Amino acid sequence: MGWGCSCSARFQGAAVLAIAVSAVVCGCYAVASETSHALLDRPPRVLILYPYDERIAATTAAGEALRSRLLEATEGKIDLFSEFLDLSRFPEADHVVRMGRYLAEKYAARRPDVIVALGKESASFISTNRGRIAPGAKIVAAGFGSSTAENIDLPDDVIGAFATFDILKTAEMARKLQPNARYLYIIGGSSDFDRGWLSTAHADLDEFSKSYETTYLEDLTIEEFVERASHVPSDSIILALTVFKDRAGRNFIPREAIKLIAATASAPVYGPYQTYIDHGIVGGNTVTFDALGRTVGNLVVDVIAGRPVSDIQAPQINIVDSRQLRRWGLAEGNLPPGTVQMHKEKSLWEEHWLAVTVALGVVLMQAGVIAALLLERRRRQDAESMSRLHLLEAVHLNQSATAGALSSSIAHELNQPLSAIRNNAEAASQLLRSGNPDLELIQQILLDIQEDDQRAGDIIGRMRGLLKKRREIDWQEFDLNDITSSAIHIMHGEADRRGITLNTKQPTTELPVRADKVHVQQVVLNLATNAMDAMMDADCARRILTFVTGIAKERAELCVVDTGNGIPEERLSSIFEPFYTTKKAGTGLGLSIARAIVETYGGTISAHNRPEGGAIFRVVLPLARREERGS
Ligand code: ADP
Repeated sequence: MGWGCSCSARFQGAAVLAIAVSAVVCGCYAVASETSHALLDRPPRVLILYPYDERIAATTAAGEALRSRLLEATEGKIDLFSEFLDLSRFPEADHVVRMGRYLAEKYAARRPDVIVALGKESASFISTNRGRIAPGAKIVAAGFGSSTAENIDLPDDVIGAFATFDILKTAEMARKLQPNARYLYIIGGSSDFDRGWLSTAHADLDEFSKSYETTYLEDLTIEEFVERASHVPSDSIILALTVFKDRAGRNFIPREAIKLIAATASAPVYGPYQTYIDHGIVGGNTVTFDALGRTVGNLVVDVIAGRPVSDIQAPQINIVDSRQLRRWGLAEGNLPPGTVQMHKEKSLWEEHWLAVTVALGVVLMQAGVIAALLLERRRRQDAESMSRLHLLEAVHLNQSATAGALSSSIAHELNQPLSAIRNNAEAASQLLRSGNPDLELIQQILLDIQEDDQRAGDIIGRMRGLLKKRREIDWQEFDLNDITSSAIHIMHGEADRRGITLNTKQPTTELPVRADKVHVQQVVLNLATNAMDAMMDADCARRILTFVTGIAKERAELCVVDTGNGIPEERLSSIFEPFYTTKKAGTGLGLSIARAIVETYGGTISAHNRPEGGAIFRVVLPLARREERGS
């Protein structure tokens, strides 16, 4: 808000800060990089005079911006002093005199080289007391308009950084935002400063107010201000100047008084001070205290460096609170060009562009990785299905070969039921030709024929599985014992022919596994055929082929044990490699196909030699899990 509560706002009612530097001493302080003349053998001393106490945000904000500008320009090689004159609460002449004396003594041994007077009161104070406090100091005054400077009779050598708080420009901003407004209210308090502001507003808004039904809300208590503002028509513009004091004599920090009024006002409130933003006003034309502080800072840097300086104007800007625009439904598009919007909600992109970019990048990367993985999975699936197809084809060829190899013994096996059928049929027809046929006997013969037919059908049925071509794995759960028995059935004719005794050792419990039945049967047949081949050199009495099934380490196990030649030790580890064969008509593919089948179903196959002679082939398959079995 305006700092200068006690100053009569006579410079166009726009009193603010005027920093006057009395350009007393020859410009000869220079310390840092931005100051060219290093004429002092010590850091320059700068005293900043604040007109009020430290709670007045306007002067404090400007003072802080000034300090940081000076520290930055001198790289810290500067002595900065601050004094809060508190002239609003202690305006009495005695106090001013006392303060002058006190500061004169305080700074006797450390006379400031430059004094910055923030606000009109500080400028008046130092104009009167400069001789005592710092006779040789340059003085910069800031924070009020140039007309105020004339009014308080600033000495000519005081340099001004003037700031004009222009209520007309604020009013024009309001008109742009509320083109349909019909009423204008201007609020001002009862202190000298407030009254000064009001009279400036009267003058400045003379023309402007003619377009509206205008009311000056003045000489009211704070409660009356609040009450009146809350009942103005909604098509009103409310301009708030300052309320340092109300009619009841209560002192306020103006922004706090404006906050009370704006909170319940029934129309938008505007004001010419940056410090009113965040306290409920829509906005206004102002000199930001930060910009003012930096302007003064630059001036002081020049003074220290001994560069020529002259009065300057701090830059004015239009400033609005975007939240208030939304509150009143005022269109952003109606703002004067270059208006600074505070608290503007940034778009997700504006506010978090880095995070959004990173997130997008991560998402894209993830998408890329996922796509690559999907592609990879697809390729793997294709490769797997291709290799499965190859396996199925190989198994089928292998099955056909097995069937071919077993065909003579199977034909021999089929011969038995077929011959029996033929003999029985002949016997039955002879009986029928006799004079008195024994029907009961004929009945018995027919039953025998049926049984033999069933046997022949079973043999063919078992072979059919071996010969059937598959395009997909036919997953099913079955008992490994059963599949071993069915393989033995297929084999036994051939075993008989070769004088081989077949033995089985099976547990009483089931050995449930999940696989394609025919494939596992093919493994058993391959192992059994090899075992029978390996025993051909052995004595007939010693040709024994044993199938042992059981559970080992929670897995189903089948061992095919023979009494043949065994496997040369050096071949044990590579016997499952394709194309190894010791047989004249061998292909060397049986064991590699057996391994491929077993591994497809998550199992293992291994070969060992028995100490007493012969080989053992061990097939291990996972037991079908309970949940799988239930499903
Ligand atoms: P093939 O039977 O066409 O030779 P296999 O892959 O089934 O092809 O067998 C490869 C080789 O492994 C056989 O030629 C044989 O030398 C050896 N072999 C397989 N099983 C046995 C066994 N039970 N005893 C001894 N040698 C065996």
